[in-house]
Amino acid sequence: MKVLVIGGAGYIGSHVSRMFLDRGYSVTVYDNLYSGCRENIFPEAKFVKADILDYSTLEITMKGGFDALIHLAALKAAGESMSIPEKYALNNISGTINILNAASITGVKIIVFSSSAAVYGEPEYIPLDEDHPTNPENFYGFTKLEIERLLEWYDRLKGIKYAALRYFNAAGYDPEGRIRGLEKNPQNLIPVIMEVATGKREKLQIFGDDYPTEDGTGVRDYIHVTDLADAHIKALEYIHSHKESLILNLGSETGLSVLEVLETARKVSGKPIPAEVTKRRPGDPARLVASAVKAKGVLGWNPRYSDPGSLLSTTWKIYGSSG
Ligand code: UDP
Repeated sequence: MKVLVIGGAGYIGSHVSRMFLDRGYSVTVYDNLYSGCRENIFPEAKFVKADILDYSTLEITMKGGFDALIHLAALKAAGESMSIPEKYALNNISGTINILNAASITGVKIIVFSSSAAVYGEPEYIPLDEDHPTNPENFYGFTKLEIERLLEWYDRLKGIKYAALRYFNAAGYDPEGRIRGLEKNPQNLIPVIMEVATGKREKLQIFGDDYPTEDGTGVRDYIHVTDLADAHIKALEYIHSHKESLILNLGSETGLSVLEVLETARKVSGKPIPAEVTKRRPGDPARLVASAVKAKGVLGWNPRYSDPGSLLSTTWKIYGSSG
């Protein structure tokens, strides 16, 4: 099968592309390299360097004839989305409209889309299942929810079947160490910890230790990118055989606090990793933990690398040997 991986040079996209190649798919990566890296594009993949706002290149590329699109191209800094919403509206929402229009014109019938747990907002109950109300707390989450609604309409009107995969906190690196591109200017906990461990940053700021959690720090559900990649393939294969759209949470169903992540990183790296407690980051919920019962049941998916040791050791393998 032939897949177009839009955003395939990014952190998650490169892991997804790698796994599609490993499973014998023909892969074309479409990426503007804004946050993705050229070293994340594998020699076996074709590469189109272009933006999703460039409609004509999207349409010309899709005329190559693809069985499915994997759409991971997006801006993802929740904080920035609140100060510059225009940028997120344009890139995430308008960019996806281009993708959907090009898909309808060129006859692509399957889209696997990177959605986010950010569509839920402040949890009303834990674990969060797919029926939990969607009330995004930041504009980034709003763009993901709007795209899910667009997908639903293009399914209804144009017969494009989709999987909206609501990722919880993506983490880890390819266990075989084949993906070496580091995120530029990361804001997320694990890459920030890694930059402290390698001396690129002075210390970790722990955003609040007065949350109603076991140790007072924020609890998240970290899911390994290799497990995420596997879910993309399973979702595509499911849609291909069942001709049915899906909305699925992808998480490990386990909560880890900031301090638990930090302790594991210290153990795995053998580095002291200095940290200080600062004030809470606005908009951060105390605890987010997924129910992934649906993905497990429907796709037969089971995370294999999402225990704290594997999450941190696969990441340290890359950061610890970089630069
Ligand atoms: N966090 C932190 N310091 C940082 C980055 C994140 O204490 O430099 C905390 C954050 O408050 C949250 C958790 O780590 O409780 C995960 O944050 P991240 O930005 O990785 O993902 P989010 O859940 O916000 O999407």
